[in-house]
Order: sequence, then C-alpha cells, then structure tokens
Amino acid sequence: MEKVVIMGAGPAGLSAGYHLAKNALNVTLLEADRQVGGISKTIKYKNYYFDLGGHRFFTKFEEVDRLWKEVLGEAFRNTPRLSRIYYNNRFFNYPLTPVNALSGVGIADTAAILLSYLKARMFPYEREETFEQWVSNRFGKKLYSIFFKTYTEKVWGIPCSEIQAEWAAQRIKGLSLSTAIRNALFKPKNTNIKTLIDQFNYPVYGPGMMYNEMSRRIERMGGIINLNSRVTRVNHENSVIKSIEYVDGNGHTFKEEGDHFISSIPLTELIGILHPAPGKEVAGAAQSLSYRSIITVDVIVNRREVFPDNWIYIHSPEVKLGRIQNFKNWSAQMVPDPDKTSLGLEYFCTENDNLWNMADYELFRLASSEIEKIRICKASEIEDYTVVRVPKAYPVYAMGYQRHIAVIREYLKSFVNLHLVGRYGLFKYNNMDHSVMTGLCAAKKIMGESHALDTWDINTDEEYQEEKREDGGSGREELQPVRLLGKQA
Ligand SMILES: Cc1cc2nc3c(=O)[nH]c(=O)nc-3n(C[C@H](O)[C@H](O)[C@H](O)COP(=O)(O)OP(=O)(O)OC[C@H]3O[C@@H](n4cnc5c(N)ncnc54)[C@H](O)[C@@H]3O)c2cc1C
Repeated sequence: MEKVVIMGAGPAGLSAGYHLAKNALNVTLLEADRQVGGISKTIKYKNYYFDLGGHRFFTKFEEVDRLWKEVLGEAFRNTPRLSRIYYNNRFFNYPLTPVNALSGVGIADTAAILLSYLKARMFPYEREETFEQWVSNRFGKKLYSIFFKTYTEKVWGIPCSEIQAEWAAQRIKGLSLSTAIRNALFKPKNTNIKTLIDQFNYPVYGPGMMYNEMSRRIERMGGIINLNSRVTRVNHENSVIKSIEYVDGNGHTFKEEGDHFISSIPLTELIGILHPAPGKEVAGAAQSLSYRSIITVDVIVNRREVFPDNWIYIHSPEVKLGRIQNFKNWSAQMVPDPDKTSLGLEYFCTENDNLWNMADYELFRLASSEIEKIRICKASEIEDYTVVRVPKAYPVYAMGYQRHIAVIREYLKSFVNLHLVGRYGLFKYNNMDHSVMTGLCAAKKIMGESHALDTWDINTDEEYQEEKREDGGSGREELQPVRLLGKQA
C-alpha cells in the first residue's frame, strides 16, 4: 500500500489525510503543535473556548460543504451574524451601507464627507500609486480616513500611503461613493440574495471541534497523527522526495519515508529545510516573502451581555486594538457560565516586534485599558485572561510577491511526489474552504484521479466572502465599498 506523509495537521493536511485514509491509503501526519487544527484550532481555557480570531464556515465548493457536514452533523449549526464597525464611540453596520454610514457620523461629518468627495472628484490625485490615493479618489479623503485608513493600517502595520494601489483596486473593484449611494438608494433589492452577511455555519464548540473530529476519524481508520513533531528536513534525490526528518517534544529526531509527501507548512520554511538546498535565486525568493501575525488577548468578563455582535472591527485610531470577538454570540456552548462573557481582543503585529515581545501581563494591561477607553466594558469587570500569539497569521501580498512565488513554484514543480496545499503551503491569503479543497485535490492526485485540479490553480475566490446568491453566483454587484475591511482579517 502506498504511504503518504503529510506535513502539518491544519484544515488542509487533515482534509488530505481524511480523504486518503477513507480510501485505505497509509497516512502519517506530522504536526509541530500540541493540537491539530492549525490557525483554525480552538483554545480551551478553564472550560471557555476561544478561536484564534472567529472562524466562520462558508464555501461555494459543494464538496467541502458536504465534508464539513459529514464530519460534524448536527453539531455544525447555522448561526446568525452581526458584525459592526466601531469608530468615534459609534457603531456602523458592517458590511457598510452608505446611508447608515452617513447618518451615523452626524451632520457635520456627513457634510465634510460630501465636500471632500466633491473635492476628490474635481482635483483627484493624478497618479494612483498608493492605496490612499486610489481610495481617496473614489470616496474622498474624509470617508477614506474614517472607514479605510485606520483598520487597514492596523492590519498591515504600514501607512496606507505605502500600500500599493493595485491592492485596493483588486478588492474594491469599480465602486465609488457615488455608485455606492446610487445602488443603496435606487437599486431594487434582489430577494434571491441569500447573504453571508446574515448567517454562517459554526461548530457548537468552535472550529477546533471540526478538525479534532477529523483527526479522530483518521486515527480510527488506521492513520497516524504525531503531535509535537516539527519537520526539520526534507531529503530529496533526482527530483524525488525520499524522506523527511522531524523532531519530537523531547528533542529526538526521527526519519519518515514515504511514496508521496504533502506539505501544508509555510512555503518559506519548506524551502529552508530542503536537503540538498535549492540555489540562491529560489532561497532569495523565499526570503522575500513575509507574514503578519496576531496576538489574541482572551478575556473573561463578569457580565452576562457585553454587546450583541459576533465581532466588532475597531477603527478608533486612539487604540491599537483591531477587532473584538464575542464568543457566546458565535455559540452559547463556548462559555460555560451564562452570566459571563468571553471576548477575544485581537492585535495585529509582526513577529518579534514590540507588541509581540511584550510580556503576557503587559499585553493584558494594554488590552484591558483599551477596552475600557473605548467603553466596551470596564477593566475591573475582567476576571481572567490568557494570551495566544499566532505567528504567520497572514501572508503579506507585498509589491512583487507574485514574482517570488513564480520562482519557487517553478523550482518545486520538478519534484514528482511533492504536493503543496493550504494557506502557507501555497502562500495564499485564503479561507478554510480553500485549504480543505487543496487538501482534497492533492489526495485525489495521489490516488491517480487525472481530472483533479492542480492545487496552485484553486482560487481563493474572495468575492463571495460577504455575499452569495442562492443561484450560486457571486453577487459581486452587491459589494460594499469597504468590503476589504472585513476580508477575514
Ligand atoms: C484571525 C484569522 C481569522 C480567520 N477567520 C476565518 C474565517 O472566518 N473563515 C475561514 O474560512 N477562514 C478564516 N481564517 C483562515 C483560516 O484560519 C485558514 O485558511 C486555515 O487555517 C488554513 O489551514 P491550513 O491547513 O492551510 O494552514 P494552517 O491552519 O496554518 O495549518 C498548518 C499546520 O502546519 C503546522 N506546521 C507548520 N510548520 C510545521 C513543521 N515544520 N512541521 C510540522 N508542522 C508544521 C502548523 O502548526 C499548523 O498546524 C482566518 C485566519 C485568521 C488568521
């Protein structure tokens, strides 16, 4: 029987392992962490369940939807959604609607927004090289500064004047303030649009429940999952991967041979552990790719209700806090005591920057003072906390990154038995469904299904993140002007 070695047991690696084990192949998964699920795992702290950022389940891939339902059945539930933007002590609908946004900012700011929009129409930036120029030309400086600038800068950690315009163009597409208002006021609403704005699927104990169950099933079918096992070397010869080496929690090194190898570990890491090492051009391309990280300060608040949303985007520039999750609104079972509320306070950062290196207690002090400052709850109401650092949470689509990916892809293509999957394996800013789909396709390729797609060619399909038609179309024309703000960041 052919043996498949899978590096990483997040959604991509587990889906591949599950499909292969179901089809009686011999699978071994090696996972560096103490638990499975990757960034989609759920942390359990004193019987409270916390996601690393909230994880909505939604997909246009029917196969993925079927798989999720097969794994969790009744425990995979439909959940109502409310998410808003918080700015200047006020809440705004997210996705943003022009009328709500303009009425929410007050008369003075509405006038300023309209005036600055007119100014932008009359005297636009001639060159649209940066995110700031691109958005200001279409929405005016004032609206840009309220609803685009602060959150985008928090997520990416650089001024919008340094983010390339192409990035905004890709995500906001043809919209401008005038078209958004026109659409909101005059466009007939299509009642067939079933929006992802209103609902999503979610396991009763968070996304970790899905991936824990998948791993249990793999083991029941004879697959092996080694936790605390970091792959440190990938040995190859004549374009064939021969074996990998991994180190367990006690520092012991083991070798695993196989016929096929699936990698969901970061592409950059894979390139660094190939033996023999690739040439300078490939190594240089990998070193040019970078990531953003997040820290979640998870707190238990001694109050029954704090706010009704699943999550809130914090645009207020006076705090570093980027987003707040309220887990009992995702699923009541996430909180063992109904008189309490658990919140996930998310900070975007870069590995080893000042925030990343702050002691847990200092992070807690920062988070509790900021949440009080923006009047969500009092610091004194927080009775416990835990801090989770998530390195490499987001692949950064920096200027020229596609060129680097192309160099790496071309090189790795030569390995006949190596299959790349997932968010970091393919360096794609994706959602879980894309990772699952790439895992399934890699498994099918290994099983000889010639029609299985190349994993590089599976799209992340960003356009249905916020809306989807019942007929399966994307509903792109319904896009909100600041849709990018919610791109699962
Ligand atoms: C804050 C946040 C919110 C998100 N919200 C959503 C959402 O609402 N909906 C949605 O669909 N998606 C969401 N996502 C995206 C989702 O988390 C990812 O798409 C998904 O987890 C990717 O799965 P993966 O298996 O490709 O990678 P990962 O989840 O990163 O799994 C890779 C695994 O490989 C392991 N690994 C790494 N290096 C090694 C090594 N050397 N040896 C062995 N193992 C190794 C890691 O420990 C990890 O377990 C969100 C992401 C973030 C950061």
